Amino acid sequence: MSTMSPEVVRRVIEQVVREVATRQQPNGAAGASPGVDGIFADMDSAIVAADAAWRSYMDCSMKDRARFVQTIRDVALKPENLEHMAREAVEQTGMGNVLDKIAKNRAAAELTPGTEDLITEAWSGDDGLTTIEISPYGVIGAITPTTNPTETVINNAIGMLAAGNSVVFSPHPRATKITHWLIRELNRALVAAGAPANLIVTVQNPSIENTNAMMSHKLVRLLVATGGPGIVNAVLSSGKKAIGAGAGNPPALVDATANIEKAARDIVLGSSFDNNLPCTSEKEVIALDAITDLLKFEMVKNGAYELRDPALIDKLVALVVNGRHAVTDWVGKDASVILEAIGVLAPAGTRLIIAEVPFEHPFVRVELMMPILAIVRAATLDQAMDWAVIAEHGNRHTATMHSSDVNALTKMAKRIQTTIFVKNGPSYAGIGIGGEGYGTFTIAGPTGEGLTSARHFARRRRCVLVGGLNVR
Ligand code: NAD
Repeated sequence: MSTMSPEVVRRVIEQVVREVATRQQPNGAAGASPGVDGIFADMDSAIVAADAAWRSYMDCSMKDRARFVQTIRDVALKPENLEHMAREAVEQTGMGNVLDKIAKNRAAAELTPGTEDLITEAWSGDDGLTTIEISPYGVIGAITPTTNPTETVINNAIGMLAAGNSVVFSPHPRATKITHWLIRELNRALVAAGAPANLIVTVQNPSIENTNAMMSHKLVRLLVATGGPGIVNAVLSSGKKAIGAGAGNPPALVDATANIEKAARDIVLGSSFDNNLPCTSEKEVIALDAITDLLKFEMVKNGAYELRDPALIDKLVALVVNGRHAVTDWVGKDASVILEAIGVLAPAGTRLIIAEVPFEHPFVRVELMMPILAIVRAATLDQAMDWAVIAEHGNRHTATMHSSDVNALTKMAKRIQTTIFVKNGPSYAGIGIGGEGYGTFTIAGPTGEGLTSARHFARRRRCVLVGGLNVR
């Protein structure tokens, strides 16, 4: 039988005392219902508990924080948990594929920076010493998408707790069950590691009403929305500090100087990753006329199926596009399942459907998030760049380009202004999977934080000591 250290016992007692005290406060918290392992009946109770947890968390050392961050990584990286999260997310949301979801959850656990991301700045001189330290907001409200349900919780929880906050999650209703499972596991493990209970909370029944209640709750100091334009606009209109990680529609530009074989392989890998669910995945290809045939040929060699019959392409449009939106039932489905629905039997190993279409086509315009990739033929490099910029819709999210012309790569990166610009690699290299740099699942283009990490979930606070501690 394991015994609790006196330090852990002290924290548990403090936590209980704080929770009781908080429920007696005249701020709407009275009558708050207790949660179990971070899951609460109502939003107010969840937030009040997260606030109490944060106050307790402030007494923990940086070493404690680092340990708790490691606890989150350990929970996520248990092989049986990786498998469970991937299988259940596919089952419950009806989107994506298990192997890629395992890779995504692993990336979230391994590549998200922890406390080392919080760098202190200092000035010292005749007048003394001034520091800028990175300090928590308190309770953060985080809204997570159906496309990366557990990945975003792992990624946000690591970054937000590393920065000293607690977090209330508002998951997509379709991903509730697996998000609850993860939040329970994380709470149990964190408490066992000596962390305050309820650093990571949510509600039993996530809904738009609950998200709205979270957004307007006075104890929530920062909102972080990872999702489409609706929720990003909602947090930006909340009157609170907000980080918005919104939609993308990443173009992949391939010019005549590219290594076409490699470009084709990279694009198929990136675009078919988790059935095209990632916001970073290639959503359309703009290729120079001279190399388009070779590119398609090489893509087919790497698991793409080319749909050539215009009538079948129209049938596919009717199936998966509704006006300016993708039809949810087909988002993240396997390429073979989508093809079967239009009467095409896909060869074994098909990961991606490609179709050559004119630039104005819905497959270019709409963020499909399914393994269907438009191929557009451009006459000149300038036209290709113009089209790539238009197709990205000004989201400033992600673009890729395959080229060995440094000037062309530079020109394109300047023109498209995306947060992520991957040169000569699959799109996922941009979030640290096979590319240098840390990873994230919350890419804040609209609000400019870029690839978010602990430092973005924190406030910059200046401490000034006048006339001392300067040894220069
Ligand atoms: P979604 O916008 O439908 O939902 C995202 C979250 O917001 C969900 O939890 C949902 O319940 C909630 N929500 C949506 N509208 C709301 C409203 N009006 N009020 C309250 N809550 C609301 O998106 P999704 O289908 O779950 O995810 C896919 C979208 O997210 C795509 O557009 C994708 O590009 C984007 N995304 C962006 C990033 C990024 O880092 N920038 C990461 C993943 C996904």
